[in-house]
Amino acid sequence: MIESLGIMKLPVFCGRDCGGNACPLLASLENGRVVGIGHNPAAGEFLRGCPKGFALPAQHYSPHRIRQPLIRKGPRGSGRFVESSWEQALALIAEKLAACRADHGALSLLCLSSAGSTGALHNTEKLTLRFLRATGGCSAVKGNYSSNAAAHALKKALGLDYLRSGFDPATVDKAGLIVLWGANVLEARLGAELPARLVQASKRAVSIVSIDPRRTGTGRILGAEWIPILPGADSAMMYALLFLFLRFGAVEKSYLDARVAGFDRLASFVLGRSDGQPKDPAWAEKRCGVEAKKIEELARRWISAKPVMLIPGYSIQRTEKGEEAMRLCLALQLASGNFGLPGASTGSINNKLPGPRVGSLSEGEAGGEGAAIPVLRWPDAILGDYAPLKSPIKAVYTAGGNFLNQGADIRKNIRAFESLDFAVCHELFLTPTAAYCDVVLPAASPLQKEDIGIPWGGNYLLYKPRVLPLEGMERSDYDIFAELSSLMGGEDAFTEGLSESQWIHRFIAESEIRDVDAFKTSGIYFGREQERSGLGDFAADPVGRPLKTASGKVELDSPFWGGFTWPAPASRPGRSSHAGPPRAKTAGAGVALASGASVARSPRSDQSPPGEALDTYTFLLISPKERLRVHSQWGHRPDEILRSRLVVNEGEAGQLGLADGQELELFSASGSTLIRLSLSPDIMPGVVSIYEGSWCSDDQGRPVPGSANYLTSTLGTEESISCVMHGIPVRLRLPGSA
Ligand code: SF4
Repeated sequence: MIESLGIMKLPVFCGRDCGGNACPLLASLENGRVVGIGHNPAAGEFLRGCPKGFALPAQHYSPHRIRQPLIRKGPRGSGRFVESSWEQALALIAEKLAACRADHGALSLLCLSSAGSTGALHNTEKLTLRFLRATGGCSAVKGNYSSNAAAHALKKALGLDYLRSGFDPATVDKAGLIVLWGANVLEARLGAELPARLVQASKRAVSIVSIDPRRTGTGRILGAEWIPILPGADSAMMYALLFLFLRFGAVEKSYLDARVAGFDRLASFVLGRSDGQPKDPAWAEKRCGVEAKKIEELARRWISAKPVMLIPGYSIQRTEKGEEAMRLCLALQLASGNFGLPGASTGSINNKLPGPRVGSLSEGEAGGEGAAIPVLRWPDAILGDYAPLKSPIKAVYTAGGNFLNQGADIRKNIRAFESLDFAVCHELFLTPTAAYCDVVLPAASPLQKEDIGIPWGGNYLLYKPRVLPLEGMERSDYDIFAELSSLMGGEDAFTEGLSESQWIHRFIAESEIRDVDAFKTSGIYFGREQERSGLGDFAADPVGRPLKTASGKVELDSPFWGGFTWPAPASRPGRSSHAGPPRAKTAGAGVALASGASVARSPRSDQSPPGEALDTYTFLLISPKERLRVHSQWGHRPDEILRSRLVVNEGEAGQLGLADGQELELFSASGSTLIRLSLSPDIMPGVVSIYEGSWCSDDQGRPVPGSANYLTSTLGTEESISCVMHGIPVRLRLPGSA
């Protein structure tokens, strides 16, 4: 704590379900009120928060916060609630959960929580599961919307060693070439340190390339070279790069033999020996929209610029064949000899590396839990359309997420919530999910909770005290669950007799931190090594330090992989029955299909009046992260959370007769929504974009169009049932012309 001129400074951190997840911050307090949040100088020059973290006080003091327990009085989604006492609300929840278990079995109760709040103790996902397990069991979801396909692919290829396949951001300093592949790091964030390290690299004039359907804010700030690419077609360009690595003699067979299982089969596919089709740059250009000569130029730079730091973003694996794109990221780094080198990367995602030892709350014992439901399929499980589930879901407990809005296929999600016997959530704001619950409990804000921050990547720990007291009716998630478990007979299992501050004390006692006072005063503890290159030991000595896989090598091809094939994004039943195959070239420049199937359709001519032929013109939709939104969580700024536009390439819009601000209906195989257009030069032709996270209803329960999840599907990828949020075929039509 630092005090001067009546202003007290306290370390805090922001821990959210975003790409950062544990960012050190410093709160300024005056007369017991937080008057500002900035960077914590104890964290050094590079570990920094973002504008969403600086908004913690605005969220805490927001007039839109829920201040009292609410019990639904109107129809689900109407936003009509009456305020109640805590006693009444908790008694109702305890009664309804007990009745659900008694009438339909424990597995009919679904734990539908997410990491809206992260931390060693106040982790909403773990707390909800722990409470439900302590009081009689539940069904649960597995996986996540963010990086599910990547986790699936990396576990297959690297085994448990995927947990140490990242790199410390300080090693960016050694990179000769940085390739951001669908990675909008400065806006969407990938850890708390990487953004500033990349800015420093750009100042040192390190060559940076951004391969992305959009010219992102990251690309602009870093002065990166933009290579526009069609969403979902990254694998085509990766195959072509591998083709060139092989053709240019840059691939060292003995190096790969020692480190990779299955490279020969990949090479055979890439060179066209297995199917007669070489995956050369001309082949790739037709599929991914990147000029062949540009692919060749990048291949030459990749070969000569070692170490090459390939940084894949979440976007490339949130596509129809996202698992394949991740597998090929590993292949690129292996084939080019960059795998695990200092200043390079393994091609993995999330910068996973071990962090300092520290305790954290467990999810508790499973106790009769049923089959975990892939998170993408939760509405199907409620609606009885997820076959492996034996008992129907009748009740939902949710905290730290906005699933009704954030899950694919909003209309299905609404039907699912409408069909429930009971739903309860903890919230700060009346989100669309909260509006469909029977009971809404007012949750404490992050500034009201003491906790330890554990980053998903990065060798450090963070601490924050309870900066602001619990003044109103709000309570911490832990406190709510502790009282509910006492009402329901599971208190010992849930609390183990410990208060919140006693848990924090225990976690620190279990940690490697020796100077606890320094940790609490500065708000940060650094692990010893800060410049690690994940799997560098294996790369240097594959025999002495084998991976935890069947072969001891990177499993690029094994019986569990389905071989190497060019992905066909629109090939699955139900995927594109309305929209047809995706078009992949600029208006007037001919039409190629991203599926690679055929050239079949011409765009409407410049002269055709809108409404006549517009709905035959297929775009590929992407839904990237917004700089100022953490998905659809939080809601302190209704104007921010409700804002939605369809970004269209301005040249293409001109050819189609579309105007900035014009309202049209956008439709896909899964649904439709009204939306206004925003024309931009920073998106490639053939692709349209809606920032994810806009709400489908306001805090009065009134429906709001424009969310990307009106258009997405719960079908998921074929291999790992992971979400597909990019590369979705969509079309436009005049409102009311369907
Ligand atoms: S929103 Fe995410 S990136 Fe931003 S400060 Fe919070 S945890 Fe860090």
